[in-house]
Amino acid sequence: MKELCLNDLLDLVELYNPEGKEKVKKAYEYAERLHKGQMRQSGEPYISHPLNVAYILAEMHGDTDTICAGLLHDTLEDTIIKKEDIAHDFNQEVANLVDGVTKISKLNFSTKQDQNMANIRKIITGITEDVRIIIIKLADRLHNMRTLQFKSEFKQKENSMETMDIFVPLAYYIGAYRIKSELEDLSLKYLYPDKYKRIEDIKLRVEDDSKHCLNEMLTTINSILTNQDIPHDIKVRTKNIYGIYKRLEQGHKLSDIHDLLSLKIMVDSIANCYLTLGSIHSKYHPINDKFKDYIYNPKTNMYQSLHTTVFGEDDRLVQTQIRTFEMDKIASFGLTAYWDIKKGNARDVMQEDLKQKYQFFKSLVEINKVFGDNQEFVYQVKSELFSDKIYVYTTKGDIIELPKGATAIDFAYKIHSDLGNTMISAVVNDKVVDPEYELRNKDRVRVITDVLSYGPREEWLDKVQTTKAKRKIREFIKGN
Ligand code: MN
Repeated sequence: MKELCLNDLLDLVELYNPEGKEKVKKAYEYAERLHKGQMRQSGEPYISHPLNVAYILAEMHGDTDTICAGLLHDTLEDTIIKKEDIAHDFNQEVANLVDGVTKISKLNFSTKQDQNMANIRKIITGITEDVRIIIIKLADRLHNMRTLQFKSEFKQKENSMETMDIFVPLAYYIGAYRIKSELEDLSLKYLYPDKYKRIEDIKLRVEDDSKHCLNEMLTTINSILTNQDIPHDIKVRTKNIYGIYKRLEQGHKLSDIHDLLSLKIMVDSIANCYLTLGSIHSKYHPINDKFKDYIYNPKTNMYQSLHTTVFGEDDRLVQTQIRTFEMDKIASFGLTAYWDIKKGNARDVMQEDLKQKYQFFKSLVEINKVFGDNQEFVYQVKSELFSDKIYVYTTKGDIIELPKGATAIDFAYKIHSDLGNTMISAVVNDKVVDPEYELRNKDRVRVITDVLSYGPREEWLDKVQTTKAKRKIREFIKGN
């Protein structure tokens, strides 16, 4: 990889936020002066690390304060500077961001000491105050993982496990797929080097083998869209190595993984997404049960796209993903992609988006409210948010995310507490079931209520997974 310099960062910032350039330059010079003489284990001057972190943040179109904080993120820990100095020389926002990142950096996620649990809680609840702290921390972790070869084997494994446990789920929840997949691959590489190498080889072979087919399709679709005057861009995308690894571990055969390679088609509007879909289906036969409309049914982390698997040239199955340029930006970078200068103060805009659009935010606030004990809090976050999830539908077609093992009771409380408190049974995929019924992926759920019901029963407490359900049931029982 070529070494970055300040101008690379400034050029990138120029593209989306030209007014921010002066401040970014100042932050770079400031950090460079403070870190002078310090070296990374790779032998590079220390400033290369914060510069890379800031660059990752600029790729995500971070606001000026975020980029500056990225450049300054290690100055509180490693140099003589104080938080007040940063507030004075920049502003309070930048100082708070750097301070937040510094606190998180001192954590060790792999020990179970009480002090540490308290800190893990801090990092996770930090999201509820300013999600940009987590985004900077993700960029910091990504660059550290990219340069992990200079650390001891013990450190490599420890960092990789921590990355998988904490940072990958966080990246997923804010929809930052690009960071998520790179973190997954880097972790896998250090945790299971042999498996990583084997899948990497398979991937190269498949890529080579499908190159011809994909290029033909790309050319064909390209000319169809050009003829229809639809502004577009098409890319070939490969599933990340960890994604392939996971599917193989689940017992899938390589030949069954149809999205190993896919065509990503970006167009200028939602209407043109559907026109493009029509054109593709009339040219290549689709497999009916592989079609997914994430445009009108976004994932719970706001990912939007149409997915369709079709018989391509040579009768190969090829997945195509169709989305707008805007959706693609959000799919790559998540929450930060919504922000632009015209919308105003980045922190407020992003916190508001987070509250309104991302389901996990509400669960997080709830868990934080209910669990006083740090150990319990961390345990609950891990089992409710950072573990396997299922996705079920309301009768209106809205997608609800629940932890694996959740019951119809959890569903009812997630929708509304009155619904849970008056629930007598549920209808799951047209079948009447008990409230304790354990839900599965893709279930369609309707809650049956009766205002004369006895209300939630104490036994339900053992049947539910979510904090909200537990809390509401306890409240109801106490109130009676
Ligand atoms: Mn750092």
